[in-house]
Amino acid sequence: MLPRLIVGNWKMHKTVQEACELVQAVLAVLKLPQHVEAAVAPPFTALHAVGEVIAGSPLRLAAQNVCWETEGAFTGEISPHMLHALGCQYVIIGHSERRRLFGETDAMINKKVKAALQSALSPILCVGETFEEREAGDTEQIVQRQTVQGLEGISPEDLQRVTIAYEPVWAIGTGLAATTTQAEAVHQMIHETLRHRWGESGAHVRILYGGSVTPANAPELFQSAHINGALVGKACLDPDAFAMIIRTA
Ligand code: PEP
Repeated sequence: MLPRLIVGNWKMHKTVQEACELVQAVLAVLKLPQHVEAAVAPPFTALHAVGEVIAGSPLRLAAQNVCWETEGAFTGEISPHMLHALGCQYVIIGHSERRRLFGETDAMINKKVKAALQSALSPILCVGETFEEREAGDTEQIVQRQTVQGLEGISPEDLQRVTIAYEPVWAIGTGLAATTTQAEAVHQMIHETLRHRWGESGAHVRILYGGSVTPANAPELFQSAHINGALVGKACLDPDAFAMIIRTA
């Protein structure tokens, strides 16, 4: 089985000082099993400080977004190279909040994935359907499109460094997590899509589940061999809850 990956998405929470306090509290209770990787994704402003606190620990650093350009006149943007230089290993790309609130398209997301890979970052590509799309029976089509277009032009070698996060939009921040059966069905479909396009490399891509993961529902979700980890929002702001989810993995 692939080592599970648990990523805490802090979203737009925490000043630099608060971020340092939070990550110190996480480290104080963290017991990382050998077959599990864990990362935190603080806001850009706290990446450097959090990176210093976790240096030498098993916790990895992730960013929540990235620009597809390397440098230049792109006011307000942060390049993959800048993130890599800060010690980031992972970058979350195409989160549904970025698609919905900031107009990110599959084409933009694909450019970000490619740029991240070129700078030795490991992209975490987020995909997922809305409630209306699920009700209309379009989950498979939407998730397949986001996966294939988000990864368009990626070589089988580079695909090994990609992680996918299946995050049904209706489950994010709602307290209404997908059932293990619902998540498993989509994870299997994504793996099949990847295998169809990229051959055996597709079988080794980790697929995380995201959407209201808590210490209470993690045990059931992680019973599925198709769920290779979790992208955790709200619960990762509570050090005990985050550490418990990691232990459960
Ligand atoms: C997320 O935003 O990636 C997320 C999964 O949030 P939450 O766990 O709060 O649903």
